[in-house]
Amino acid sequence: NSKYPHSEKAYKVVLAGDAAVGKSSFLLRLCKNEFHGNTSATLGVDFQMKTLVVDGEPIVLQLWDTAGQERFRSIAKSYFRRADGVLLLYDVTYEKSLLNIQEWVDMIEDVSQGEIPIMLVGNKADLREQAIEEGIKCIPTSYGERLAMAYNALFCETSAKDGSNVIEAVLHLARDVKKRS
Ligand code: GDP
Repeated sequence: NSKYPHSEKAYKVVLAGDAAVGKSSFLLRLCKNEFHGNTSATLGVDFQMKTLVVDGEPIVLQLWDTAGQERFRSIAKSYFRRADGVLLLYDVTYEKSLLNIQEWVDMIEDVSQGEIPIMLVGNKADLREQAIEEGIKCIPTSYGERLAMAYNALFCETSAKDGSNVIEAVLHLARDVKKRS
């Protein structure tokens, strides 16, 4: 592919998680270093390319943004089948987004051949402090860590809004993907 002259292979990484946890915003921050406060829900599936340097070597990622809505799950499923890694997002200020993580993990394990690296991402970390002040029940970091351990997944908390940990999360996953390929 002439667009990516230095790479032999692009690794496929799928963004998964419920609607509105911040998948599109995460990609926008990662690929364009932008944040739009009012992005509308993702429609269907789209991908972005991102080159990262892992241990001194460029690695090309093809990042697929799936929609979280029930009606798109069959589409998401078909992407996990060819995925080299998954970024599985939830919203740290929305308890319910964590409840479905089990369902997402089951779906990923169902369709992927063999073990596939998963990075569990607690997004919207920038909102937690204020949410707690407002009496909203948030998901503690330690809970996310334990959950990731139970799923044998990597773990990170991020903010697509202020950009914290976004690149780090993807780099960490990319390193694991590369190691296993
Ligand atoms: P998706 O449906 O999972 O792709 O979620 P979106 O990217 O569309 O985000 C849903 C809403 O949450 C939008 O209004 C975003 O602006 C907002 N959002 C996404 N990520 C963050 C974040 O890290 N912090 C804050 N404060 N808002 C976010």
